[in-house]
Amino acid sequence: MDRVVNDGDCSVKTTVEEKFHDWTIGFTKSHILHSQCTTKEACADPEGKKCLLCLYSSILELPHMPDMVFPSSVLWLKHASGRGIEFRALDALQRVCNGKQGIKIACSDSWKESREEASNMTEFKPFDWTFTTDYSGSVIGGFEPTPTTERIDLDKLKQKERILFYEDLMLFEDELHDNGIAVCSVKIRVMPSSFYILLRFFLRVDDVLVRINDTRIYHEFGTDHVLREYTSREAKIADLKIPSVALTEPNVVASHLPLVNSRYEKLSLPSPPAAVVAADT
Ligand SMILES: [Zn+2]
Repeated sequence: MDRVVNDGDCSVKTTVEEKFHDWTIGFTKSHILHSQCTTKEACADPEGKKCLLCLYSSILELPHMPDMVFPSSVLWLKHASGRGIEFRALDALQRVCNGKQGIKIACSDSWKESREEASNMTEFKPFDWTFTTDYSGSVIGGFEPTPTTERIDLDKLKQKERILFYEDLMLFEDELHDNGIAVCSVKIRVMPSSFYILLRFFLRVDDVLVRINDTRIYHEFGTDHVLREYTSREAKIADLKIPSVALTEPNVVASHLPLVNSRYEKLSLPSPPAAVVAADT
């Protein structure tokens, strides 16, 4: 395992990358996004190189950022064919409704409802202050998803296998002005036979609702595709007959939440991968 640690004054970064069969899998873990602009002059210049905060602010146009954003944290999986998938906070936050997107991104209405119930929250704005995102990773190299009826074999995943690689990366988190929590993180584990990823957005608005948007990604080494499953589950807390302590445990509460939305996709790899290399020579 290659582990590079750069200890800069304010940017401690860890990068790890390993090869598994035809895949290169790695991640960078970064510092938290600073809350003040660090290079005011350069950031004010339209041609200048912006600091990460100004870059995020200009792209996202959110009235405010989550309390904690990990701007340079990224998990990547690259196949020898050039196709792959990455997970980044910026891409996840681009799918949060800021009131400026067109119809391409479906903005949830439930926040308006929850806002009425949580009357001490911010003023009405066309902005989803719960930071709800349906992000399911960023595909690269033409790794386009198509709908499938195939499902991830969860029984296979339950079989005991050695874990060769594991990481849990936080992308962003917000405490909703002490009214709950919104957290988006991605976990990966690589085993001798396969890799499995769980990208989870967990939201709890105290006394109002719990929502979990999960993306599960699974690939069995040697096969010609990757499966991606997205599910959105939510319930009003008043309708959940579970102890309140369970509301803080996404893994516990998940099984009590009704399914609201789902998407099952297959990402195809060129088959066989060796043919691609042969064609070039
Ligand atoms: Zn700046």
